[in-house]
Amino acid sequence: MDGIDVKEIQPTSPGASEQSGAKGRTPVPELLFGDLWDYAPAPQNTSHVKIAPRYEHFIGGEFVAGTGYFSTLNPATEERLSEVPAADDEMVDRAVRAAREAFDKRWSKLPGSERGKVLYRIGRALQERSRELACLETMDNGKPIKESRDVDVPLAAAHFLYYAGWADKLDYALPGATVSPLGVCGQVIPWNFPLLMAAWKIAPALAAGNTVVLKPAETTPLTAALLTEIFQEAGVPPGVINIIFGAGASGAALVRHPDLNKVAFTGSTEVGRAIQRTLAGSKKRLTLELGGKGANIIFDDAPLDQAIEGVVEGIYFNQGHVCCAGSRLFVQENVLETVLRKLTHRLASLRVGDPLDKNTDVGAINSSEQLEKIRSYVDIGCAEGAQMHQLACELPDKGFFFRPTFFTNVVPAHRIAREEIFGPVLAIQTFRTPDEAVQKANNSPYGLSAGIWTDKGSKLFAMAKALHAGVIWGNTFNKFDPASPFGGFKESGFGREGGLHGLLPYMEVRG
Ligand code: NAP
Ligand code: MG
Repeated sequence: MDGIDVKEIQPTSPGASEQSGAKGRTPVPELLFGDLWDYAPAPQNTSHVKIAPRYEHFIGGEFVAGTGYFSTLNPATEERLSEVPAADDEMVDRAVRAAREAFDKRWSKLPGSERGKVLYRIGRALQERSRELACLETMDNGKPIKESRDVDVPLAAAHFLYYAGWADKLDYALPGATVSPLGVCGQVIPWNFPLLMAAWKIAPALAAGNTVVLKPAETTPLTAALLTEIFQEAGVPPGVINIIFGAGASGAALVRHPDLNKVAFTGSTEVGRAIQRTLAGSKKRLTLELGGKGANIIFDDAPLDQAIEGVVEGIYFNQGHVCCAGSRLFVQENVLETVLRKLTHRLASLRVGDPLDKNTDVGAINSSEQLEKIRSYVDIGCAEGAQMHQLACELPDKGFFFRPTFFTNVVPAHRIAREEIFGPVLAIQTFRTPDEAVQKANNSPYGLSAGIWTDKGSKLFAMAKALHAGVIWGNTFNKFDPASPFGGFKESGFGREGGLHGLLPYMEVRG
């Protein structure tokens, strides 16, 4: 097979099932052996990254000691990196009061051009400290350094710079309408893109004249902690951005605070539902960016080698911890064999391991809980009758790692085809006609993303119109731009981030 040593191993011994990364279970894996190309290690130097033993809440422009400190780990080594406090109701109230005062007395009174300057300075500071931020993100989250360096940090900076440009143009944004800020925004973000999600939340809110209280995820607080230094250096007035740490309980305390004007949440559909219930009947505006089960659709006329790159980008980028991941692959039946052969070949060249190595393609799973969730889904896939294919690469002894995996013989009823796994696991199905592809792709409670691979522009546009997804890529996947709106339909939530659309949820629009 294209010179690749691909072997089928029957899982008759416990050893075989261990090799599949599912200790003590009995899935039926087909192991794909890697190319075994030798790469010299290319470790990223981290000597310039200074991690304090402890970080505090950032409220009213000051660092405020809290209670209930908990550790954050490097998921690639299981080493403790630092600790942060968990905000309780009292701390949340302090942060919201600081944000209210800053809104009333300072931020909402500043001309847009002055707000823009602050955002611009944050964007520039992110660029200046990009190496430090990229290393810290990789250490706290587990994602490959080449992704945090080339995707997360540049996009976060671009987001601030883009919204800096809007801050003094709001009066022209919607012709005939007058706009004003909402007030204090509570923002809760997940662990998969910690810095980037903070940028997506903070930049449009501030551009529109709001102040914020943001809670990063429990397992990834460190780039938000470093951001607080950047906010001070950039001259963000005290109280305009407040960062409080904590787990789900702190997020819940923030969301239910009565003096918020808006809640912006990115995370799971389950928590999104709980937040929607909490906010029902209140004055608070809400936007929800939730889960997904994106369809990546390959037609027989597609440039297949490029499509395979899109499949890899779609599901193995960021270990598959991507809400808009292309976790369902639909292949036109007559090219299935070719696509599987090429995908197998490409998978065999993926390098899994130390996220701080510049050659690494797939890093660490963010937490042991997430690793356990992925393993259980893989077991479910095998038990339900799908065929597992897995890269038989060596994994580091320590840390939370999972081998890139795909399933064939998948039917739409399988849980691995319906539920969000949030890991490097792809479910492959086939179709014969464009109508069948649309029907199968839309057969999901989610509606966040989709990708279409075809040589025909007309087919691409017809498909894009028929697919129920907020973001649709044509002959590419997982590409982001601050000027382009992002968000979902159905159980993937509502509201948009990015572009002019991303400002609307942060403004009162009259006329
Ligand atoms: P999650 O469990 O829903 O957590 C998201 C955030 O909410 C975290 O900060 C979490 O705190 C906090 N939280 C947990 N329970 C809460 C509650 N009852 N009230 C308020 N906040 C609460 O999601 P996750 O596992 O971190 O992230 C993965 C999910 O995010 C996936 O479903 C993914 O698709 C989705 N996501 C969506 C987008 C998008 O734009 N649509 C982007 C990225 C991720 P702790 O984590 O600290 O406990
Ligand atoms: Mg961590």
